[in-house]
Amino acid sequence: MFGTFTDIERKVLHGERLTKEDGIKLFSCNELSWIGALADYVRKKKCGDIVYYNVNCHLNLTNMCVSQCKFCAFGRDENVKGAYAMTIKQAVNVIKDAMKDPNMSGLHIVSGLHPKWHFKRYVDFLKIIHKTFPNLYLKGFTGVEITHFSKISGKSVKDVLIELKDAGLQAIAGGGAEILSDRVRNLLCPKKATADEWLEVARIAHNLGIKSNASMLYGHIETIEERVDHLMKLRSLQDETGGFQTFISFPFLPKNTVLGKEVSQTSMWDDLRTLAISRLMLDNFNNIKAYWVMLTVPVAQLALSFGANDIDGTIHKETILHDAGASSPTSLKEDEIIKIIRDIGRTPAACDCNFNILRLIN
Ligand code: SF4
Repeated sequence: MFGTFTDIERKVLHGERLTKEDGIKLFSCNELSWIGALADYVRKKKCGDIVYYNVNCHLNLTNMCVSQCKFCAFGRDENVKGAYAMTIKQAVNVIKDAMKDPNMSGLHIVSGLHPKWHFKRYVDFLKIIHKTFPNLYLKGFTGVEITHFSKISGKSVKDVLIELKDAGLQAIAGGGAEILSDRVRNLLCPKKATADEWLEVARIAHNLGIKSNASMLYGHIETIEERVDHLMKLRSLQDETGGFQTFISFPFLPKNTVLGKEVSQTSMWDDLRTLAISRLMLDNFNNIKAYWVMLTVPVAQLALSFGANDIDGTIHKETILHDAGASSPTSLKEDEIIKIIRDIGRTPAACDCNFNILRLIN
C-alpha cells in the first residue's frame, strides 16, 4: 500500500513498535483515510468498542497567572479586567450547582499560577472540597502547577504530591506538556515548568501510585519532528512507569492569544491525522481522547473512528478554551454524549477519573 508506507502498515498489523522515522513519515502521508483506518484497527484491537466519558465539572480556581504563555487566552495579570480568584465558598458553590446532576461524579481542577497564593491554599481548597463532596472523584493540577507548588513552597515535588494525595487528589490532569522541547518552551512559555520538569512530575506521581494524563499542544511553532519527539518522550516514560491513563492532543486555538497574531488555527485534516498518528505511536497507552471542546463535537465524533476511545466529559462549564475562541458548547448533557457514541455503533461507559467503569450504557 502506497509504496514507502507498506512497511509501516506491516508493523502496525503485526503489533510492532513504530520508530521516530516512521512517525515523521506518517506525517508526510496524504492518505488520511488510510492513517485513520490503521489507528482504528489498533483502537479496536486494544480497547474494543467501549468509549469512555465522565459526568464531570471543570473548576478553574483562578485565571491570574504569572506565566504569560504566548498560546494562552485564559491566564492574565492580577489587576487586569476579567482577572478573578475564587474564594473557597465560590468554588463550593460552583460544585453544588454541578451536583444538581444526579450522575455528577468527577471534578477536574486546573487553574492559573496565582502570583500570591501559597501552596497551603490549594491544599485547603482540596481538603474542603473532598470533605464537602466525599463521593466526587478528584482529578486536578497539571505538571506545570505541581512544579509551581514545589517552587513556591520550597517542598520537593514528591512532598507536594503526597500532600495533595492526602488531601483527596486521585489523579493528575494532563495539561501543561505543550511540546516537550526546550526550544519551543523557551520561545512560548519560558516562565513555567521545563520539559524535563513536566516529565519528572509525572514520573514521581506514577511512582507514588498517582495516575496522570498526558497531552500535546500542537499546531503553532513546533516542527513535525518535535511533535514526534514529544510522543516518543511520553512513550518512553510510559514504558518506565505505566502511569499515563489517556493522551489528549490539543490543537492550538489562536483567538485572544499573543501567538494568534502570527499563527492561524489548525485544519480538521491536521487534527485527525495528529490524533490517529498519536494512537499509532503511543502503543503503550490504552486510551486516546477526542477532546470535543477543542475539536468541536462533530470532529470529536469522527475522531472516535480515527483511534480515539475516550471523549472526555460533560464538563458543566468550560472556560479556558472558550477564552481562546473555542466554537464548541461550554458543556454537553450526558444524553448528548451517549448519543454521539451510540450513533457510531459504539458502547458508552461512564467512568471515574481513573477509568474505572461506573455505568455501562448498553
Ligand atoms: S497556559 Fe497555564 S501557565 Fe500558561 S499562562 Fe495559561 S494558565 Fe498560565
